[in-house]
Order: sequence, then C-alpha cells, then structure tokens
Amino acid sequence: DVTLKTKRILITAAGQGIGAASARACAAAGATVIATDINGDLLADLAGVPGIETRVLDVTEGAAIDALAAELPDLDGLFNCAGVVHHGTLLELDDAAWDFSVNLNVTSMVRMCRAFVPGLLRRAESEGSTSILNMSSMASSEKGFVARTAYGATKAAVIGLTKAIAADFVAQNLRCNALCPGTVDTPALRGRIASAPDPVQAEKDFIARQPMGRLATVDDMTPTVVHLLSDGSRFVTGQAVLVDGGCTI
Ligand code: NAD
Repeated sequence: DVTLKTKRILITAAGQGIGAASARACAAAGATVIATDINGDLLADLAGVPGIETRVLDVTEGAAIDALAAELPDLDGLFNCAGVVHHGTLLELDDAAWDFSVNLNVTSMVRMCRAFVPGLLRRAESEGSTSILNMSSMASSEKGFVARTAYGATKAAVIGLTKAIAADFVAQNLRCNALCPGTVDTPALRGRIASAPDPVQAEKDFIARQPMGRLATVDDMTPTVVHLLSDGSRFVTGQAVLVDGGCTI
C-alpha cells in the first residue's frame, strides 16, 4: 500500500530541502514525479533521477499554475510544499511582509488546489483515490512560537484550508491532509541560523526546543509524505499530521 506505482505526483518547492527529498522518496516508491520550483538551477540536481521530471513553477503566478494544470490533467497526488518563514513578532511585521507570507503560504495553495482538483477528482473516479498534501507546520494552530506571527497565522490557515477541501471532496475519494513538521535541517533553516545575531546560540536554541535533542532531517519527513500520498492512507483525510519529534506532546 505504500507503493506509489502508477501515481503521478506534482511537488512544489522541490528544488531543495523537504520538497527535494520528497521528490526523491516518491520516485523511489515508484511514482512519476513532476518536481517544480521557482529556481531552475536547483532543479538541475533532480534532472537525471529516474522517475522525476522537472519544471520551473513560481507558485505565486496564478496564470502559470493554470497553464501547468491544463498540461497535466491526470495527477494522482499534489504536494504543496512551498512556503516562507517570516521572522518577527507582530510589532516587527509590516504590511508588505504580511502580504508576502499570505500570498506564498496560503493563496498559492488555494490557486494550486483550485487548478488541480478537477483533474484529481477525475482520476479519483477512474483510479479509486487521489491525495493532496499541504505543507503546514507545528508552528500554526498546533502551537505558538516566538517571532512567528505571520508564519503561525498562515500555517494555521493551511490547516483550515486543508480541512475544508477534505470536507468538500471526501465522498469523491479525493483526500487532503496537512503535514506539520518540527524543526527540520534544510537550507532554509541553515539560512535562519546564519542570519541570527549569534548563530551558534541560535542553532542550540532550535535544538533545545526539540525534545528528542536533535533537529529533524528531511528523511524524517519523507516516509510520512509518501504514506499520505499513497493509498496506504486511504482512510485518512482532513488531518494535521504532526511529525515533530514530540514538540507538541
Ligand atoms: P528550503 O528553503 O530548504 O526550500 C524552499 C524551496 O522553495 C526552495 O527550493 C525555493 O527555491 C522554493 N521556492 C521559494 N519560493 C517559491 C515560489 N514562489 N514558488 C516555487 N518555489 C519556491 O525550505 P524547507 O525548509 O524545505 O521548507 C519547505 C516547506 O516546509 C515550507 O513551506 C516551510 O514552511 C515548511 N516547513 C519547514 C520546516 C523547517 O524546519 N525547515 C518546518 C516546518 C515546515
């Protein structure tokens, strides 16, 4: 059931980090993966991997999303992984940063789902089941974190969006779940550590909030990604799935 053979899965933000690892894991599980990212140079790393096709896609470009959906009407899975972390309290959040977070973390997912759901529903009818996975975070409606106002609010919106989509299409065998990781060692996290006033202390602080005493690796995420995109999770929908090393116990 964890096989993804016969599944065609599109992943956003697959150029590095959790998205890239997910593209590789889905392909290894037998899927045909359409790995997309805003950054074509990053996608070059995946270009030769068996089972992976790469496409440049900026998920804030609605017209580009619609064009890609018209080209790919037969997906079985969609992993909306793109998102951005704004660092700051409410008092450090200006309108531009808020709008950027909402646009990239939430509106892009609305547009991606709206564009690809008709095809996913057709495939669910003929193949039995299709699946959307939306990237949320433990920093969302699950738990509040310091200096994560825009991030926490938008990742909470992802959970609400996910549950609404799940409710609308549950009877047509299109499932929709949200992934809520803990702190994952990715290029984005390394960037946040490097730009902190004291990077050594910042890394210690990130580790200190993980009860298992370590950061997650991207490979701690991918088995759950594969599971939620596979028919092995066929009775799971509308869930915020925490893969957080116990942060929210
Ligand atoms: P990362 O920086 O390592 O990778 C992000 C990728 O997104 C890059 O390849 C980048 O080119 C791409 N991207 C940026 N803007 C884009 C756009 N407009 N359209 C398409 N692609 C775009 O990031 P990551 O840490 O792997 O994070 C991926 C997702 O996981 C994000 O939604 C993030 O919020 C979420 N997440 C990360 C963590 C963590 O600790 N790393 C924890 C919880 C949730």
